[in-house]
Amino acid sequence: MSDTPRYLSTRGRAPAATLGEAIAAGLAPDGGLYVPERLPALDPTDFDAQGTLANTAATLLAPFFAGDPLASELPAICAEALDFPVPLRTLPYRDAQVLELFHGPTAAFKDVGARFLAACLRRLPRADARPLTILVATSGDTGAAVGAAFHRQPGVPDSNVRVVILYPDGLVSPRQAHQLGCFGDNVQALRVAGRFDDCQRMVKAALNDAELQRDVPLSSANSISLGRLLPQMSYYAHAALAFWRERGAALNFIVPTGNLGNALACLWVRALGLPVGEVRLACNANATLPEFFAGRDYAPREAIATLANAMDVGAPSNFERLRWTFGSDDVALRHALHAESVDDAGIRHTLAAHAREHGEVFCPHTATAVHLLDRLRASGDTQPWAVVATAHPAKFEQVVEPLLGHPVDVPSALAAMLQRSASAEPLAAADAALERWLREQATA
Ligand SMILES: *Cc1c(COP(=O)(O)O)cnc(C)c1O
Repeated sequence: MSDTPRYLSTRGRAPAATLGEAIAAGLAPDGGLYVPERLPALDPTDFDAQGTLANTAATLLAPFFAGDPLASELPAICAEALDFPVPLRTLPYRDAQVLELFHGPTAAFKDVGARFLAACLRRLPRADARPLTILVATSGDTGAAVGAAFHRQPGVPDSNVRVVILYPDGLVSPRQAHQLGCFGDNVQALRVAGRFDDCQRMVKAALNDAELQRDVPLSSANSISLGRLLPQMSYYAHAALAFWRERGAALNFIVPTGNLGNALACLWVRALGLPVGEVRLACNANATLPEFFAGRDYAPREAIATLANAMDVGAPSNFERLRWTFGSDDVALRHALHAESVDDAGIRHTLAAHAREHGEVFCPHTATAVHLLDRLRASGDTQPWAVVATAHPAKFEQVVEPLLGHPVDVPSALAAMLQRSASAEPLAAADAALERWLREQATA
């Protein structure tokens, strides 16, 4: 098959991989991120106007999967992973749209990528009969989404995969901590006496430990996996196509941004030829991207803590893919995108004002994007914008409720998780502590 795409590393020093190999590996062996050799071209008329989100995803992703053993499974993978609504809702008082990505099992957009990755890994053949242990370091949302995606469920084929979640003890919201610890069975949570960076370092050390890997087969599910990035394109394509059919115009998006996975998916949809207009990145006080887009050199740094904690990123991991997308031409890249920072005061003000004046409640991450919409409208802009809502406000009740003065309704899937009992084992913030724990588990 001549049109089977190959996947290359952004650093150019790893052999080309098939899609299945790239998804199974996560990171390329040279430390780079996998990208397709070239992005395919699609046309709005390729898509079924009556189709579901899963149908749109299957059409959109078919060229990426062409020739791969997973290709024949793609419609089933999409149906399994994208089985919840992703509505494009009108926000009447700003004449704008809200793309709600939080109707999945853990109430944040990471459900889309985690469930798709799980659906792929379930179908990829493995030579090893021992269970595969997926390590996830999380500052909150990723761990829950990955846990929920791999948790053994009646009716879903058992994948012989178990998930170990590492999170910084005391540094996630109480509801996030409960979510992380409520799975049990093949999903275990470790509360690490350290920061998110410690969790990430411990996971990397375990993955790079060849001796440990011989005894305990390990993999990762972090946000740089193509298996998480590719499916995130589906909701942008689905929403933009629906808007274009109805209004005959391209839809512009404002995307709350941390590691750039969600926003990059939006840009790729535009690059494929679908009707996405302008893309704006809404960042919190971590200003690495806004400073780059203002013309300064790219300068990754340590993250600072903000109210939008899932976006507390000082060195966005997908920046390499973003540069690749524009042929490493920073001038072209700066022309194609726009990024702005919103500090905690701006987040607070936006949450309180929209609740008071319009009865609309957003999560702190979504508030950064809503703030940029407010700035645009205040400057006289009348373009069609969609604000991307990345999580349900009930996940961040400690931030949101004091600003509203009343409780936020909890969505039913989240409420069900909060009713289950939860537990997490304590672990020291040392690489050796994780290694010892993994070896003990494997022989237990
Ligand atoms: C992960 C996350 C983000 C940031 O997404 P990136 O893909 O890392 O840019 C924004 N909001 C919420 C709620 C998240 O969980």
